[in-house]
Amino acid sequence: MDKLRQHLRAHFGVERVEVAWIGGSATWAAPVPECLGLPADHILHFSGIETPWGPVGRCRLVAVEGRPVLRIPVHGWLTPEGRFDPGPVASMRAFYLLRELGVRAVIIDASVGGITLAPGDILVASDFIDPHDKPLALEFARQLGLRPWVRLGEPYCPVLRSRLISAAQRLLAADPDGSRPLTGTVHTEGTYVTTPFGVFETAAEIEQYRQAGWSVVGQSAGIETMLARHLGLHLGHISVAANWAEGLEGGRWHGDMAGFYRDCALPMARIGWEVVRSLVLEDAGTWTCSCETIGVSTDLTGLPVPEA
Ligand SMILES: [Zn+2]
Repeated sequence: MDKLRQHLRAHFGVERVEVAWIGGSATWAAPVPECLGLPADHILHFSGIETPWGPVGRCRLVAVEGRPVLRIPVHGWLTPEGRFDPGPVASMRAFYLLRELGVRAVIIDASVGGITLAPGDILVASDFIDPHDKPLALEFARQLGLRPWVRLGEPYCPVLRSRLISAAQRLLAADPDGSRPLTGTVHTEGTYVTTPFGVFETAAEIEQYRQAGWSVVGQSAGIETMLARHLGLHLGHISVAANWAEGLEGGRWHGDMAGFYRDCALPMARIGWEVVRSLVLEDAGTWTCSCETIGVSTDLTGLPVPEA
């Protein structure tokens, strides 16, 4: 951590990193931001920073308009050795790093199964469901001495949602052919259902989610969103549907899933890059919104009284 802080001072003259971009499967088929044609000397690769849950995986510190942006690819699931090790604990390491660096605004890209989204549609989530990872969010809070019981009302930042929506709509309209397999449809509201890691959903589960009115299903957003709220961060989440969720459209599964990921990585990286660049240029996180206060608006300091 000390080396990283020295690098920040020496190269950027700053003590903190305001903006972070956690990549997910929407961009796991390409190196970001190298795939956008940036010179390599603008990128510092690092890993292995110790956290209470083990070392942080592979990360990049990227110069954007002369300011540092933290890029964590693949949700932090690439170990320092480059091994693919998915799981929610990687998010606890990643958000520990965000806290250490003083990050204020973070965007996340992901891919999902579509319940109301067709393959290639984009969702900028407005809400989420995750009953499974709440014990991990509590463990994160306890370990860092944060208060439990943060509110999860309006979990995604209205400012970042608006930035992601307009960047996606603008880029997809400007270059529809170059953006395929993205369809150009951007869903501006919807709920992301988080299911536990490692096993996909049954058709019966998806039917239950569909009847509840939920939009997409995935395995990463819940823990990330709860940790962002614990830290009072502005968070925006954008996902692309890689396939129909199980059982929908007659259980149809389009043929070349790896090809889909290889093709969607660049347009999704362009959208993310435009948003982080706009945040850097406009002093990320200096706006006033509910993200930093809604979580602590149930401040119960002093309770219970010792005499109770
Ligand atoms: Zn906000």
